[in-house]
Amino acid sequence: MTPEAASYLLSPPALAFLGLCIGSFLNVVIHRIPLMLERGWKLDSAEMLGVTIEPPAEISLAKPRSRCPSCGHAIAWYENIPVLSYLRLGGKCSACKTRISARYPLVEVLTGLLFAATAWRFGAQPTTLLWCGFVAALVALAGIDWDTTLLPDNLTLPLLWAGLVSAALGWTVPLGTALWGAVAGYLSLWSVYWIFKKATGKEGMGYGDFKLLAALGAWLGVQMVLPIVLAASVLGAVVGIAMKMGGGLREGRYVPFGPFLAGAGIVVMLAGPARVLGWLGWA
Ligand SMILES: [Zn+2]
Repeated sequence: MTPEAASYLLSPPALAFLGLCIGSFLNVVIHRIPLMLERGWKLDSAEMLGVTIEPPAEISLAKPRSRCPSCGHAIAWYENIPVLSYLRLGGKCSACKTRISARYPLVEVLTGLLFAATAWRFGAQPTTLLWCGFVAALVALAGIDWDTTLLPDNLTLPLLWAGLVSAALGWTVPLGTALWGAVAGYLSLWSVYWIFKKATGKEGMGYGDFKLLAALGAWLGVQMVLPIVLAASVLGAVVGIAMKMGGGLREGRYVPFGPFLAGAGIVVMLAGPARVLGWLGWA
């Protein structure tokens, strides 16, 4: 590929378009991974208990085809074009006219904007695509955690390994800072969890949060772990208080921490370590 072609394909507009399409796929990931996990848990539990259950319907990221959750209308390819189809259909199912959640186009637009920002930050080089993959994984994790308060191992652990391998190959940060970033990410939240649990008898977060922060440390380096935790805690507290006051949070429910960790990770990636340390006055 000529450098001109590469700079065109990796330009912010081109990656915004790619992001819209990937965002459409992330909607499927956010919706289906929890269902796939639940199905696996049911089958495993039944096997362990030695009981026979009606096997839950098979589901994967590819099958079955997307359907309207209200009427079961199979969604045609031309009804599945990012953002445009939503606008063309007026936000309603073409068969039963039930409203389609505005979250679908929002996830698509968000992913498009984040991919464009990533292209702007890293320029026309192959690692831009690598960072887009990092962003896509974080959008999926944030969506799943927001819906279900789960951060599935089958996303957090590959993200952690991918961060370490990318560092070892010289594509991201030096391997040492990636390795210690992963360790610091995991242990810092693990310690907070145990102190909080001993002090209050409650669980303030889950093991998924430790693994997600370990992954962020592996991608962004050990220096960025504390800024990410600080930013995520402040944002999480503000949103939690706002939701409690607005009545958006049921009693006994808590705001998941994962979306804020993921958001802080993306901000730190886009800003770069020098600027982040400058903001904190630690430069
Ligand atoms: Zn319908």
